[in-house]
Amino acid sequence: AKNNGRNTYQFYEEDMTNSALEHIFFKTSLQQAIDKDEFHLNYQPQIRLHDNALIGMEVLIRWNHPSEGNIPPGKFIPFAEESNLIIQIGEWVLRTACFQAKKWLDSGIEFGRIAVNVAGPQIKRGNLVDTIKTVLAETGLPARYLEIEVTESYVMQDADRAVEQLNEIKALGITLAIDDFGTGYSSLSYLKKLPIHKLKIDGSFIRDIPVDTDDMAISKAVIALGASLGLTVIAEGVETAEQARFLSHAGCDEVQGYLYSRPIDTGAIEQYLTEPKNS
Ligand code: C2E
Ligand code: CA
Ligand code: CA
Ligand code: CA
Repeated sequence: AKNNGRNTYQFYEEDMTNSALEHIFFKTSLQQAIDKDEFHLNYQPQIRLHDNALIGMEVLIRWNHPSEGNIPPGKFIPFAEESNLIIQIGEWVLRTACFQAKKWLDSGIEFGRIAVNVAGPQIKRGNLVDTIKTVLAETGLPARYLEIEVTESYVMQDADRAVEQLNEIKALGITLAIDDFGTGYSSLSYLKKLPIHKLKIDGSFIRDIPVDTDDMAISKAVIALGASLGLTVIAEGVETAEQARFLSHAGCDEVQGYLYSRPIDTGAIEQYLTEPKNS
């Protein structure tokens, strides 16, 4: 038992050191990443189930670190949120995506909408509404081509302020989606008050369909809830035709996932958008 205890302690200490180092590493290199042009964007198509039409694309950030290589957003976004660097990074993502979308628009390339992820601190400490207005004015992208994904957990942390800001964003003509739906603790009464258009079922509920019958029941319930509130429901992380079939039968409106396309870079998505479709 003693031995075990010591081992546990050692592991614990090692973890602490690693995470402290990681912390310093991320903070210093994240600060420079925008200036050094180390970020770029990927796009992942979102498909309407009933006619297979492309309705939009989620914008996902990628970080190509000069010595570490590709660092996934799941690893660095939490650090960026902690240090509030997410406010600058988020603004960079928004501006870059809107600029790109305006270029497509001007070239007659149809992309539906671009769906940009927005993190909690951008709502809580940044001035998201003004940032969005500025970026739309600068890029000339009409608001109807922009969708904002905001996570359930952030909305619920400060629901009154979130409702206020989301109302202003909606009034601009932007589509609003609640991301990672089902993973946080949403109060259903708030859901009714939120000025949103879309629920996005988190990929963790889709992954084990059709093996996990609980996940199937949850997905069905969210789809029914969305329908009764007049919301569009999109499922992310759809990897198999069977999952798509299940979601279609359950009445899900839209899907996104590897079954249709992985998130791909600007060149590849342009090719995707311009190649003739056979559907
Ligand atoms: P998310 O918003 O829930 O994004 C969905 C994630 O699922 C993405 O991971 C996407 O690449 C991945 N994905 C898409 N289709 C499939 C599939 O069929 N199977 C599986 N297993 N995964 C799939 P990614 O790009 O690594 O991003 C992870 C998270 O990082 C995102 O989760 C989001 O929370 C955050 N993130 C990414 N880009 C941004 C950004 O520009 N701003 C902010 N604030 N957060 C971002
Ligand atoms: Ca998202
Ligand atoms: Ca998710
Ligand atoms: Ca997420």
